[in-house]
Amino acid sequence: MKLGIVIPCYNEENTLEESSQQLCIILDRLIAQGHIDSKSFVCYVDDGSEDNTWENIENLSQADTRFRGIKLSRNFGHQNALIAGLMQLKDLADALISMDADLQDDMRLIEGFVQKYHEGYDVVYGVRDKREHDSRFKRRTAEFFYRFQHFMGIESIQNHADYRLLSHKALEALSQFSEIHLFLRGIVPMLGFRSCSLYYKRAERFAGESKYPLVKMLLFALDGITSFSVRPLRLITLTGFVLFLLSLVGIVWVVIEKFILGNAVQGWSSTMVSIYFIGGIQVMSLGVIGEYVGRSFEQGKGRPRYIIEKEV
Ligand code: UDP
Ligand code: MG
Repeated sequence: MKLGIVIPCYNEENTLEESSQQLCIILDRLIAQGHIDSKSFVCYVDDGSEDNTWENIENLSQADTRFRGIKLSRNFGHQNALIAGLMQLKDLADALISMDADLQDDMRLIEGFVQKYHEGYDVVYGVRDKREHDSRFKRRTAEFFYRFQHFMGIESIQNHADYRLLSHKALEALSQFSEIHLFLRGIVPMLGFRSCSLYYKRAERFAGESKYPLVKMLLFALDGITSFSVRPLRLITLTGFVLFLLSLVGIVWVVIEKFILGNAVQGWSSTMVSIYFIGGIQVMSLGVIGEYVGRSFEQGKGRPRYIIEKEV
């Protein structure tokens, strides 16, 4: 079986050498044991890095033909870099494993992935069992996000990032998804096929900083929800309906006050409060609807998700 490992890199010049050394050891061992073909390879996807990442990739590929590189023309973001690698390489291997460049994902799991592939699995998820090396903030926000996602009716594998094996069959299926706002974690479970999870401990980032600061993380989370669920739209409809019912009760109350009880003008404050309340809900609802309209606008344009500058 020919294995490919796809690694998106954005300003990762300090991690590349170490990760490729470790990968070499694992590839050598798997080849020696006869689990994978000797033509198995590692491909780095340079996502428009501003440092020497691409030069490092070129050097690696010159020193060892098992290392390949794809250079994107600019920064397209993690998910797009990943899909670029997967789609570009899917016909060159029997299965592709995707992982991060920062050595946070335990590489020893690769052997497990390969074994599961031989057992006939098409999708193997790497799931981290603890997040002790992530900051408390990251842990909490991630936990909240999974809960919220579940509430919104999206099924995803908890604590699974983009460390997984996809067989050729699964990749072919994935290539039929043409969404612009990619959220691979949500799409892969939709592919179906025989799948299973392997567990590992997530380590600390080897070098450099996380490329997912808060704002990027929030935007990613928003993609994760709005690309998979129309439940927010439904919640708006529901809110509107409840408000409508409440206002009916309000009208009845006003009529009684005015004509039966004969009370004069009621308080100014309650009027103001309700104006603000309804106004706020309206604007919020428009915002959520706008999100979806914007998304279909972008999807309608059908722009490419990535552009490749060169390959080595
Ligand atoms: N990455 C990328 N493009 C980006 C941001 C990140 O290709 O715009 C890569 C990055 O080099 C790393 C992987 O995506 O290999 C995951 O990023 P990171 O480790 O910063 O995310 P975290 O693990 O903190 O969620
Ligand atoms: Mg990381």
